[in-house]
Amino acid sequence: MRTHGDWVDHEEDEHQAAHGECGEHGEGSAQPGFRMTRQRRLVYDVLLHDLNHPTASDVFLRAKDRLAGISLATVYNCLETLTEAGLVKQVNLDREPSRYCPNLNDHAHFFCMACGSVEDVVPAPLGGGLQGWCIPDGTRVEKMEVAMRGRCRRCATEADSSGAVAPQQASESARASN
Ligand SMILES: [Zn+2]
Ligand SMILES: [Zn+2]
Repeated sequence: MRTHGDWVDHEEDEHQAAHGECGEHGEGSAQPGFRMTRQRRLVYDVLLHDLNHPTASDVFLRAKDRLAGISLATVYNCLETLTEAGLVKQVNLDREPSRYCPNLNDHAHFFCMACGSVEDVVPAPLGGGLQGWCIPDGTRVEKMEVAMRGRCRRCATEADSSGAVAPQQASESARASN
């Protein structure tokens, strides 16, 4: 079991219910020495419950409704600390502001080029330990960052029904980022 240190106000049931659909997607456990302050807790809550892969500015807009006086700089600091503590992953898109993801399970990100939404994509299990990737023998994967691009279901349907130009070739719309 995870330990929560000094997170005395932790509401386990609520968090689990909010992520029931995603199975194990829930709170991770922080590095030893990490302290969950009120501001960090707020920022983390916004990531867990309120917004889907937001940027720091998105988090700030939501957080300041709940905690008057919190600054964008503080939100940046909290996000950095949460990332360093291993509770949150930073998702980088070329030339766009970083986004933040609290899902610590191995997953890739799908970016909709039409509406800008970001969704988690989970690898299909093949039965072995490695899931659908041809990784050279002897390689030890320690961190996974895969990005796919295209149109989300909503935008693809809209594009089809409005007769818009076809999306890019499949080979171009899905690519791995280093
Ligand atoms: Zn994610
Ligand atoms: Zn979309």
